[in-house]
Amino acid sequence: MALVRVALDARSYDIVIEQGALDRAGDQLARFARGGRLVVVTDANVAAAQLPRLDASLRAANVGIEPIILPPGEQTKSWRHLEQLLDALLGLEIERGDHIVALGGGVIGDLVGFAASILKRGCHFVQLPTTLLAQVDSSVGGKTAINTRAGKNLVGSFYQPALVLIDPATLDSLPPRETRAGYAEVVKYGLIDDPDFFAWCESDGHRLLAGDAAARTHAIEKSVAAKAAIVADDERETSGRRALLNLGHTFGHALEADTGFSDTLLHGEAVAAGMALAFRYSTRLGLCPTEDAARVTAHLKAIGLPHDLASAHVSADGATLVGHMLHDKKMAGGTLPFLLARGIGQTFLSKDVALDDVAAFLDQ
Ligand code: NAD
Ligand code: ZN
Repeated sequence: MALVRVALDARSYDIVIEQGALDRAGDQLARFARGGRLVVVTDANVAAAQLPRLDASLRAANVGIEPIILPPGEQTKSWRHLEQLLDALLGLEIERGDHIVALGGGVIGDLVGFAASILKRGCHFVQLPTTLLAQVDSSVGGKTAINTRAGKNLVGSFYQPALVLIDPATLDSLPPRETRAGYAEVVKYGLIDDPDFFAWCESDGHRLLAGDAAARTHAIEKSVAAKAAIVADDERETSGRRALLNLGHTFGHALEADTGFSDTLLHGEAVAAGMALAFRYSTRLGLCPTEDAARVTAHLKAIGLPHDLASAHVSADGATLVGHMLHDKKMAGGTLPFLLARGIGQTFLSKDVALDDVAAFLDQ
């Protein structure tokens, strides 16, 4: 079992990473039950694949589950489902000191975290993330949100869970394409500031994708520790350090916008292509050795992730893609902050990137 402690000014909490943790969750969660019951919010896919394991371990600890099962998919991060969820929770007479358990991917984690942050002016929640993306990214850091007509994640809060319990074995039922997409965020941590971890990804990443428990656990531990350290430094994205987590996301966001945020290109797939583009663009600016950019592209390609516009199924021209970037919510004061690299593990935030040059690069 590995333990990462997220230390924040307001309060700190533990992230427990353990193969088979869901089968032993009763031990960890029984203390959060009231009247022998615990409310668990999940989606229909996760309910079918993983809820029976949680149910069995809680039963063994004499805790019953009050399940709330939502439809799967990004559309669930909506006003409509937030209202439905809040009504369901109020119907169960949730009190302020109660804990709500979020069992699922980033969609469930973001929605339940937001609901917990406003229900009775804030009740507790516990994250049991079941996608690789949620285990290495969205369950760490305390950002919660829903999507609105104006865009993704525009309504939300910073709200930390009481506990995050990660069982890498939940990935056994996750579609391989989802695991691969989440793996892009794992690679991201190596590229930000940990060249040894990127080298591990090159040599051992395929084991993680093949379902090897030790490789999964190692990658999740490294990723969670990396994100926790960055978040502890900059909880509310004020110093700029947290912005490093957006490596590949400005290019990636443009690719997602161009494919209509659809299943054509999953978020992690867009980030993979975005990281390869950020490294190649850094090379064009004379900042990054060509070999480093080539290694990034080669690894993503070897894993089966998109690494350029063609493999991301994007045919738009550079000007159109830059137009999408300008709609990015991270645009501040008319300039677009860009994550560039001086090499593998040497990412930095640049504030003076010429957008017409980015467009010309994308047209190559
Ligand atoms: P998701 O929650 O939609 O899960 C992907 C799919 O896998 C869904 O169909 C889900 O039902 C299914 N699934 C989940 N776990 C499963 C399992 N173990 N077995 C079988 N099926 C399973 O998507 P995601 O990629 O986990 O999360 C994406 C969301 O995360 C986006 O809304 C994004 O905005 C958000 N996000 C938030 C943060 C943050 O800091 N809060 C960071 C990154 C992403
Ligand atoms: Zn991301």
